[in-house]
Order: sequence, then structure tokens, then C-alpha cells
Amino acid sequence: AQQNEGWKLDNSYQRLPGIFYARVQPTPVKAPDIVKLNKTLAKEIGLDPEQLKGAADLFGGNRVPAGGMPIAQAYAGHQFANFTMLGDGRAVLLGEQITPVGKRVDIQLKGSGKTPFSRGGDGRAVLAPMLREYLISEAMHGLQIPTNRSLAVVTTGENVQREIEFPGAVLTRVADSHLRVGTFQYARHWGTKEDLQVLADYAIDRHYPDLKEADNRYLALLKEVVKKQAALVAKWQLIGFIHGVMNTDNVTISGQTIDYGPCAFMDQFDRSTVFSSIDVQGRYAYGNQPDITGWNLARFAESLLLLIDENEEAALETVKDVMHSYIDVYEEHWLNGMRQKLGLTESQTADKDLIARLLDLMEQHQADYTNTFRSLTLGVFDEKQKLFQSNAFKQWYQQWKERLATEQAPKSDVQQLMKANNPSIIPRNYLVEEALDSAAKGEFELFDALLQVLADPFAYSKEQEPYAVLPPEPDQPFQTFCGT
Ligand code: AMP
Ligand code: MG
Ligand code: MG
Repeated sequence: AQQNEGWKLDNSYQRLPGIFYARVQPTPVKAPDIVKLNKTLAKEIGLDPEQLKGAADLFGGNRVPAGGMPIAQAYAGHQFANFTMLGDGRAVLLGEQITPVGKRVDIQLKGSGKTPFSRGGDGRAVLAPMLREYLISEAMHGLQIPTNRSLAVVTTGENVQREIEFPGAVLTRVADSHLRVGTFQYARHWGTKEDLQVLADYAIDRHYPDLKEADNRYLALLKEVVKKQAALVAKWQLIGFIHGVMNTDNVTISGQTIDYGPCAFMDQFDRSTVFSSIDVQGRYAYGNQPDITGWNLARFAESLLLLIDENEEAALETVKDVMHSYIDVYEEHWLNGMRQKLGLTESQTADKDLIARLLDLMEQHQADYTNTFRSLTLGVFDEKQKLFQSNAFKQWYQQWKERLATEQAPKSDVQQLMKANNPSIIPRNYLVEEALDSAAKGEFELFDALLQVLADPFAYSKEQEPYAVLPPEPDQPFQTFCGT
């Protein structure tokens, strides 16, 4: 059956110097059982979903797919600003699938047992957080935000010890690659200049092949990653996504979102929102995310200095200019995104102020971020919402309508633009928790229904309406957890 699953695996990462990875087999699990399989994604990457239904052993790490050569990747990273050695402590890269359109994607198991980088950890993962990652990453894809994807979740038939015992699981993920800022930091810190250069050339080859001919391809690489990450964090801000653990090891060179441990979507608009239980200082608060991306990109730039110019001072000067450009690139993405959320296609100087005033009013009246834009899109306003009762909002609304009137586009286009940029639903924390609670009992109706409506959050369909209902007032603030 194995040959028919559709594997077409290559292992280009292993052509890098040996310091970048360790060969390791997944540790077999007792009784792997598929609880989620992403058939659409399977097909997209050239795998046969029907055959995969019988591949629990593969997704559990008990069998390596044809052509796969499992490794754990080495990397370092700044975790909450502290530099440290990391590496895949509970993940293995099985290989790189070459898809029917010739794309190369990493196939990675998470929760597949110890590796040389596990430090004190057990290399395992718990079912509920793996299902949560599956759901949120697929929702991000639906929201048109670059992200790694989820292919499957299996239960292992084994318990995992945390504060108490939980059912274990393995998640299979698909990513453009797992090259991170932390991979470059690792090369800079523990490798030779040649190691660093080989890594940079690999990244260019894999993600930015057009740069091969550039005058200074390493500077060009820095510039491209800055652009990609600026665009990414702008999308997070526009959708109200809080990543929660923006350590440099979680910042990809490809520009995809990875690491869905402590992330969550914001309900009420509040720039200081933090969900992660360990982020006590609020380093990764919603409002800080753009600056943190800038900080992380500066760490990337530092790692590349050596390659950008042999003269260190000259390299520093060059890189400083690029880093100065970051915030402008970010602002432009964000501002254009906000204009689209308000149905505006032309750019006027006063737009910035119009947007700022709306956000300030939302914050002041504790308005729900997603539903405020949803209301503006539909032109339907819940009288109970404090924001909509306020005179300041009514005034703002008038000014917005006047601004819209200056646009050339017909009214119907305005609403279309707004519908395409304001999701009618997001994975609300309370809905996600409800779905996970019943999934933990083996009942997947809520989970599957939520997954399905989130596949196209811009649909504004009738069946989505119940999912746009605001969460009940929580007794305690919502919290998320890392490393479960
Ligand atoms: P994260 O916060 O998810 O980016 O993980 C940080 C580091 O901790 C990575 O090197 C992980 O591989 C590692 N890690 C997290 N949980 C475990 C675990 N249960 N066993 C081994 N390593 C782990
Ligand atoms: Mg990580
Ligand atoms: Mg994680």
C-alpha cells in the first residue's frame, strides 16, 4: 500500500553541513489511530487520501514513508529576548514532498518522541493542543494568512505526563520549510562562515531563487525576508491574531506563520491583549507585534552581517538602512489593509486619521474587533453595543460615509471589497474550547463543523451566523499555554 500513498520525497536539507541536523527515528507509539485527516491538503500535495486513511502507523511515527529520511533540525533562538540553543525537541522532518505542481514542502511530525535536542522534555504532545493547532492553522489558511498547514492528527494510545496525565497525540504538519531566523543565529554562533553561507544559499535557492543573480544576494535575502515578515505581521494585526510566542526560532524565512502553541484571536479591541500564561510582561501583546517582528528581523540581519560585507562597519551601515525601511513597509501594508477593510481603494492623507479614530473609539468602548468591521460591512448595527450608541461613533460614521462618497467605485464594489477583507467569523476562543472539550471525549461534530465554516470565513453565509455571536462574559481572562 505504501507506494500508492503518493510519496515523492526528497531530503535536500541533509545536503547541508551535518551541524544543521541530527538523524533520528520517530519513537514508535503503542496504538496510533487517525482522528483528523486533511484530505483536501493531502490531494494538493500529491497524496492519496483514501490510502492515507490506513496510514495511522505512518502518522504515528511507526513507519517512515518511502523515500523519507527523518531528522531533527538544529537551531537557536531568542526566547523572550534570551539567546539559547534549541532545535527540534519533539519534532522530526520526515522529508520534503515534491507536489504535483513541483513545489517542495516539509512533512513534519510533532510529538514523535525524543531527539538530541529534547533537553529535559519527553518529546511528546497532548491531544487537545494538537487538535487546537490543527484547527487554528487551517483557520489561518482560510483567512488567507501565510501559514504552515495541518495534515493529520493521530492519538497514540499512550498517556503523556504533564501536571496530570493526558492522552498523547502526533500532529503532521506541512510547511514551505522550517528555516527560521533561529537557524541563521545557530549557524552564526556555532558554525563557520562557510556553514552560514551554505545555509543562506540554500534559503535563497528554496524560497527566493530570483535573488541568485543579485549583486549582493545576502543583502537581497535580508530585504526580501523583511518584506515578507512585514506583510505577515500586518495581516496578523488586520485580522486580530495574537501569535503569543514570537521568539526568533518561530520566525520563518519563508514568511509563513508557524508555532501555534499559545496563539489566540482577540475579541475586544485592546492593544495590550495577551493570552499566553507565560508572557507576564506582555512582550508579545497584540500592539507590540509589529515592533517585535522588527526586533526579530534585526537579529536576522546581525546573523547575515558577515556575508553582506567583509567590512563590518560597512555591513552595519547597509543593514541599518534596511531595518529603518522595515517599519515603513509594515505601515504601508497595514494602512492599505485598513483602507480595504473600510471599503476604500484610493489613498488619501486623511485616511490614517480616520482609521486611528475608529480604533481609538473601539478601544474606548471595548468593542469587538471582528464584529465591528462585520457590522460596518453589513451596515447592521447592534443597538446594545456601547460603541454604536456613542455620539463620537455616529460622527465618525458620517465622516466615513463622506469619505466613501469621494471614491469612484460603485457602492456594490465597496461592500464586496469589505466582505473580502473583513472575515464574518474567526475561531472564537470560546467556540474553540467547546469544540476541543467534546473532541477530547471523542465527539467531533462541533470540531468538524467549526473547521468547515472556517474554511471560508469571508463567505458571509447563513450557516456562519451562529459563529459570529459574541462570547459570553468570561469569569476569568482567557489563557493559553506553551509546550503542552
Ligand atoms: P516552542 O516554544 O514551541 O517554540 O518550543 C521551544 C523549544 O522547546 C523547541 O526546541 C521545542 O522542540 C522544545 N519542546 C517543547 N516541548 C517539548 C517536549 N515536550 N519535549 C521536548 N522538547 C520540547
Ligand atoms: Mg517553536
Ligand atoms: Mg511550540
